[in-house]
Order: sequence, then structure tokens, then C-alpha cells
Amino acid sequence: MKDLNFPLFKTKVDNSPKFDLTDSAQRQKYFDLKAGKEIKKLRNYLKQGNTFIAYLLGKKNSGKGTYAKMLKEIVDKDRIEHFSIGDMIREVDKELQDPEKKQELIKFLEKNYRGFMPLQDIMNSLENRSTSKLLPSELILALAKREIKKRGRKALFIDGFPRELDQVSYSLFFRDLIEYRDDPDILVLIDVPERVIDERIKSRVICPLCQTSRSLKLLPTKKIEEEQGKFYLTCDNSECSGPRMVQKEGDELGIKPIKQRLDLDEKLIKQAFSLHGIPKVLLRNSVPVDRAKEYLDDYEITPEYVYSKKGNNIKVKEKPWQVQDDEGVASYSLMPPPVVISLIKQLVKVLGIDSNLQ
Ligand SMILES: [Zn+2]
Repeated sequence: MKDLNFPLFKTKVDNSPKFDLTDSAQRQKYFDLKAGKEIKKLRNYLKQGNTFIAYLLGKKNSGKGTYAKMLKEIVDKDRIEHFSIGDMIREVDKELQDPEKKQELIKFLEKNYRGFMPLQDIMNSLENRSTSKLLPSELILALAKREIKKRGRKALFIDGFPRELDQVSYSLFFRDLIEYRDDPDILVLIDVPERVIDERIKSRVICPLCQTSRSLKLLPTKKIEEEQGKFYLTCDNSECSGPRMVQKEGDELGIKPIKQRLDLDEKLIKQAFSLHGIPKVLLRNSVPVDRAKEYLDDYEITPEYVYSKKGNNIKVKEKPWQVQDDEGVASYSLMPPPVVISLIKQLVKVLGIDSNLQ
């Protein structure tokens, strides 16, 4: 982000073997090597009945969900929840289609919603959201509380809240609102260069049958086709018949259509960064090229894939992807696992469980 530099985080270890971080078994070994101790501490902390609430703040399409889900997989699937406000609203949309569930929802809101907008207006705006009218923060809070109760007491990663500037201060009291006693709350701020987001959107393709998402430039399948000098991915999901993957309409525009949202997200991150009294975890997705040797193992850098054709053979070349960060510095973008290592280690610190006595 411009004018707000998160510290670099060192994940390099001496003599690390090379891991393929896209392979789940190798990823497991990678995490054991680089954060085995911290993962054990987190597991013990959770096993003893402790929880925490972490607010994930990053720009749209910055991969917030990916990091939280990976941490959950690695640390404790049963005691950690990743909870997205966006998914929650989509679920509510479904409830509204079912008359019985709709009545239940109204009953719940009559009891739990407090705010400036009358409940009838709320129901109307929920049902006609094509008008892109904003849902009031008080409603989001009531719905989030209901959703969290449903899931039972777990450590939570909340994705998509705060979403508006007026919601940042709500996050200070949210823990009390959902009755999480004195369990710690943490802001997890994520810095991903806009060019990274832009390229991810521009190069992403999906399978028209199974909706698997990949990237021609950054995450190809094993099967590649060529036609008239252009290269295409073929879906390699074993449960799919494997058609050619296609770009979604509008993706060729990259971040252009969401630029306003990205600017607002940046303001949110900066405002959250300036909050006092709540611990913060700072994650960065990029490392300047000239610092990479010191901080990273080579295999932690996101590669880009370049294709060429010789006769009937398609050659795929892999090389470190270079991209400018928001200050214009030539940088590498990190694979998700090293970012998750940084998240795990910082979590252990802010939870105060890093001493060897634990
Ligand atoms: Zn498919």
C-alpha cells in the first residue's frame, strides 16, 4: 500500500529442501519444518478451550479467505472457523426464498435487531438488493451474531467485517457483543500490491462445467492446448470431462471495475492500522526483488508460466514472477504458504503463547 509499509517477514531457513507448495503432502512437511513449534502451541491453546477472534482486512481479491482456510487446515480443522460476511448474506438471500425460513428470520430480527432503519425497510432492501443499497451495519451485526452462535465456540476468522469506514469502531466492541468473554481479538491486515490483484483477475480462467478456477499465467492445469498461437488450459479435475477453460466476461478489465472498492478497502486498512489497544498482525504478500535472497527460499516465490510450441509439443517454462508493488518497487509475490507461516508466528506472539514454558 502507498505510504504504509508492512515489515518484511523472514521465512527462509538454512538448507531447506525444495518443496512443491501446490502439493498438499509437501505443504504439510513445509509447515512442520518452518513453523512446527508454533503450530503445536496454537493447537494446545485451542485444545485448552481458548479461542480468539481475528478480523481479516485486505483488499477485495487479495486472498484473505485462502490464508485463513489454509491456517485452519494446518492447525485445527475443528476448532477454527473461517466466517465470511459475504457468504452469510448470500445464505440470507436463500432463506428469503423459503417462506418458513423467512418467518424465522423476521422473528429473529424482531428480537435482535436494533437500528435506525425500520425492520420493514430492512426486509425490503434485503429482498431487492439489485438496487445495490447498502445493508445497515446494525443489521450485519445482528446477523453475524446469529451465525456465530450457530457455529458454537470456536476461534474465528471473520472475513469482510468491517466493510465500511463507520464499521471500524464496531469491531472494537464486537467481541463483547457476541459474548466471547475476554478472549483476545486481533486485526489481521493484509497488504497485496494492486498489480498482483490485477494480474490475477486478468489471467484467471474457469471451467465452464465444474467451475474450477485456474490462471493461465500463475496457476495452470497439467493440460495445455494451443490454437493459432494462443494457449489455453484444459480442466484437469478428475471428476470433470475436461473442457477448455474460459475467461469470465469482464475479467480482461482487471481491477478497473473494482477500483473504487479497492480504494475504500485501502482506507479501511489504514484506519484499522491506526487503532490503539487491539493487537495487529501485519501480512505482506510481496518482497522486493533485491531483498528476496535474504528473506525467502526460492520455491516460496509465485512463479509465472510462459508457453511456447515446438512442432507438436507445447513447452511450459516456469520463472519467478516479477511485479511492481504499489510504490513501484520491483517485487516478487509470495505463494500463500509463506504468508500463512507469517500469520501463524505473529498469532502465537500476540496471543502471548510464545514462551517455551507453554
Ligand atoms: Zn472442469
